[in-house]
Amino acid sequence: MAEIDRDVLKLEMTEWRHDLHAHPEFGFEEERTAAFVAAKLREFGLDDVAEGVGGTGVVGTLKRGSGNRAIALRADMDALRISEQSTAPYRSGNPGIMHACGHDGHTAMLLGAAKLMAGEGGFDGTVRFIFQPAEEWGKGALAMLDDGLMQRFPFDEIFGLHNMPGLPVGHFETRAGPVMSAEDVFEIVLRGLGGHAARPHSGQETLVAACALVTNLQTIVSRRLSPADISVVSVTELITDGTRNALPGIARILGDARSFRPEVSAEIECQMRIIAEGIATAYNVAAEVNYTREFVPLRNDAELVDAAFAAAEAVFEPGNIAVAREPMTASEDFARFLDHVPGCFVFLGNGEASAPLHNSSYDFNDDGLLFGASFHAAIARQRLGT
Ligand SMILES: [Zn+2]
Ligand SMILES: [Zn+2]
Repeated sequence: MAEIDRDVLKLEMTEWRHDLHAHPEFGFEEERTAAFVAAKLREFGLDDVAEGVGGTGVVGTLKRGSGNRAIALRADMDALRISEQSTAPYRSGNPGIMHACGHDGHTAMLLGAAKLMAGEGGFDGTVRFIFQPAEEWGKGALAMLDDGLMQRFPFDEIFGLHNMPGLPVGHFETRAGPVMSAEDVFEIVLRGLGGHAARPHSGQETLVAACALVTNLQTIVSRRLSPADISVVSVTELITDGTRNALPGIARILGDARSFRPEVSAEIECQMRIIAEGIATAYNVAAEVNYTREFVPLRNDAELVDAAFAAAEAVFEPGNIAVAREPMTASEDFARFLDHVPGCFVFLGNGEASAPLHNSSYDFNDDGLLFGASFHAAIARQRLGT
């Protein structure tokens, strides 16, 4: 098989990335993106291309030799409801939606890997190229799994990557064990009668109770959980039905909690219920706690982390490969696949000058494309052998 020219591939991936960037689509609405991906995979000559897996997901399958092992490589396709601040010629053409997390880059990199591996082979077994919808919602991986992903397209291990602002391009990081956190979402509703602003003693108002509750929620992490467990409880919204001269009868407190172990997530919920009940009693109002789990924690398999570092040596300069120092309290839908098979999630530099993820000025760095595609191919080849 002829070797694929890396410089040409990098230019092609840049073109694909800009096309995807100009046409961002929200989770489960990635119709155009999925059609783009499927068309490319067919053009590269994959053995099978399945569309509509878990909504708008796409799975490409590439087989070589007689090996019976299968390795999955995964990218995400969705964009965010953020208005882009950019003058780039490929800036978002869909008002209010933009690729602010670099999933356009992840998709282009995995397409690049598919082209490399279809053109050059160099492995014995099956590679599954998984393009998932709705990562940002934490719903796309489950949708694909519920649609029979593991039964229809079985695989033994899975690898994924995310670009990282602040890390120089051409740098690679990952770690064994906990990598990214679970995300739980909560809403606490306080209800009372409300009342006249001039006569608080005869009413039953919820705002002072809500303020006490917000303050006391700060003690969950600082006083009720072990300092050895990393966790975050953030109140992000306080909404009431009060007005200038009327005390609110309803106060809603919304927020988000992060943790790395299911036991810690359960304890946060338990403590939150105790505090909400206690504050409600003390202030003579009623409390209702709604607590849901949106993302599960992402834990890397130690053996596959070693394999990823070994594969990275063929792609990155030795001085640019590092063990990530600490887990991140952000969340990743990739974790859902790890409920079924072992896997490893890695981070690639998006440059020190990069705007943060989910920022209206963010853009994926095209200089990282070839690193990502090459790493995907390297780890799959290494795990499948020749
Ligand atoms: Zn994101
Ligand atoms: Zn992302």
